[in-house]
Amino acid sequence: MTAGRASPSDSGQTHPGGGEPAPARTRLGVIGWPVAHSLSPRIQNAALTAAGLSHWRYQLLPVPPELLAEVLPGLPEAGFRGANVTIPHKEAALALATDPTDRAVAIGATNTLVFADDGTVTADNTDAPALIEALAEPLTGRSALVLGAGGSARAMVWALLDAGADSVAVWNRSPERAQRLCAELGSVPVTSAGPADVLVNCTSVGLDGSASLAGLPIGADELGEYACVVDLVYSGSGTALTRAARAAGCRVVDGLDMLVGQGALSFERFTGRPAPRAVMSAAARQPAEGSDGG
Ligand code: NAP
Repeated sequence: MTAGRASPSDSGQTHPGGGEPAPARTRLGVIGWPVAHSLSPRIQNAALTAAGLSHWRYQLLPVPPELLAEVLPGLPEAGFRGANVTIPHKEAALALATDPTDRAVAIGATNTLVFADDGTVTADNTDAPALIEALAEPLTGRSALVLGAGGSARAMVWALLDAGADSVAVWNRSPERAQRLCAELGSVPVTSAGPADVLVNCTSVGLDGSASLAGLPIGADELGEYACVVDLVYSGSGTALTRAARAAGCRVVDGLDMLVGQGALSFERFTGRPAPRAVMSAAARQPAEGSDGG
């Protein structure tokens, strides 16, 4: 993919053929509503500085749903090279892209847009590969239970099946939404939590800092049934789920691991450079007030 790679035009230099310098497009952002508490600007700006792109800037882009179709096409002209997409725009942004990847289409959601110089808009989903990278173990023949049936659950289910998981069960507060997701992606809807190798929480439970697992179909004393627990939600001191999972002896992938993983893959698409993951991870884990997921 050539779109989004750092090039001489990043600093407004003249093209090899001479003439006027191309306008620099050195802006990035995260489109969401609400988005004020996103940690993405912090980790992405730390990465840009570490990569020698300190003249680039990654910012919050608060855009209400009714304005997305109007705002998004104007971003390249305003100097944007790419954008992350978070709640509630992941599906709508996919529909507005000209060049969605097969993965984003299969998942039905995008979290990464790249605006190419020729006007095309690439849409990818880096949440899915971030899960597989974070698990860092073969999934062939393994079983998984995914909690939730929203946009991130779609990416996690697709990723687990694509990586060879033998069975992926999906529980959701609203069962019909889980049934719809499973029919589309090939997983199995369940109305109660059974044992599995990997448990992935894709609900919003924990986002409010609650110290209990209320809202989930599982108690702290049952977490030993899962070798690995992944929580997409994060909060400064950890969520009730990650704390209980660690206490139960489970391997834990927390929401900050996932945030850095998807952000690193997005960074590479935006800039064409390797992501400085250690820098991004350190920035994400600085004590802070943020608790958003995207
Ligand atoms: P979404 O599309 O809005 O889906 C929300 C899900 O949470 C739905 O399944 C919903 O169930 C469920 N839910 C909400 N409140 C609940 C409650 N009180 N009890 C039980 N279930 C509840 O959101 P999403 O994009 O999938 O994101 C889900 C979470 O993951 C968010 O907290 C987000 O911040 C986080 N996230 C983190 C990362 C990361 O990089 N760390 C990436 C993506 C998402 P119903 O269908 O019944 O409403």
